[in-house]
Amino acid sequence: MVKPRSSNPDLVNQTLIKLHWVKLVHNSFKSGSYYVLGDTTWTTTNLTWALEPGIRSDAIKPIKCAFQSWENATKFKFEKIDNYTKANVKISFTPIDQLREFLEYPKSVALSSYPPDGLLHFRADVPWVNGAQRGKMDIETVAVHELGHILGLEHSDVPSAVMYPTTKWGVIKRNLHEDDIAGIKEMYNFP
Ligand SMILES: [Zn+2]
Repeated sequence: MVKPRSSNPDLVNQTLIKLHWVKLVHNSFKSGSYYVLGDTTWTTTNLTWALEPGIRSDAIKPIKCAFQSWENATKFKFEKIDNYTKANVKISFTPIDQLREFLEYPKSVALSSYPPDGLLHFRADVPWVNGAQRGKMDIETVAVHELGHILGLEHSDVPSAVMYPTTKWGVIKRNLHEDDIAGIKEMYNFP
C-alpha cells in the first residue's frame, strides 16, 4: 500500500505507521534522532492561515498556540487572516462523510496536506477538548502535529516527537521535540 501523497491521515492506534515510514533520515548531529522529510516545501517562510468561517470558537486559541510553537522554533512567520479562500493554510472541522480519507481510515482524527496545499481537516465528530481529558483529544496536540505535515515533515519514529504518527486519547503532547526541530531545520536549511 502506498500512502497518497496529498493527504496524511492521522490515527490514534498503530495501524498506519508502516505506510508512513518510507524514507527514514538519520540526523547525524543528534544520535538516535529520526525524523522524515517530505518531498515538497514552501517557497516562502511568510505564510497566512485562516479558519473556516463558523469554526468552533474553542479551537482558535489552541491553533494559534500551535502556530506559535513552530514559529518559535523556525524562521517561519505565520499571519492569521480572515480570507479563508486566499490563506496558505486553511483549517476546518470536517464531517467524516465529506472526506474520503476519513471514511477509508475511520480511526483517523485529523488529516493534512503537504506543501503547497495547506489543508488541515480536524474530524468534526471527534470529542475535541483543550487539555488532557480522559477519552478526549487535545486540539493543540493534534494541531502541532498536523502543522508539521503542513510545513512538509513526514512522521518520525521518535515516540516523544510531535511528529510521531500516533497519539492517545486524553494525552497532551504540545511541545516540539528536538527531533521535530532538527527535521524542520534540515528541510529548510534554517540555522
Ligand atoms: Zn501525521
